[in-house]
Amino acid sequence: MTQGEPGAAAEPVQPQGDAVCWLHLVCESCGALLEREGDPHRPGCDAAPREARP
Ligand SMILES: [Zn+2]
Repeated sequence: MTQGEPGAAAEPVQPQGDAVCWLHLVCESCGALLEREGDPHRPGCDAAPREARP
């Protein structure tokens, strides 16, 4: 086992079953999961784009 390999400490995280992967996708204000750009926030969320709602 050798240490000091470039990238050894930066293993790619598998986007599957790891909460850390999608944790940054959750809105801190309303808790809605925003997987894609344009996903709706919960009603009354301060972070929600205002022009998205009539
Ligand atoms: Zn939100």
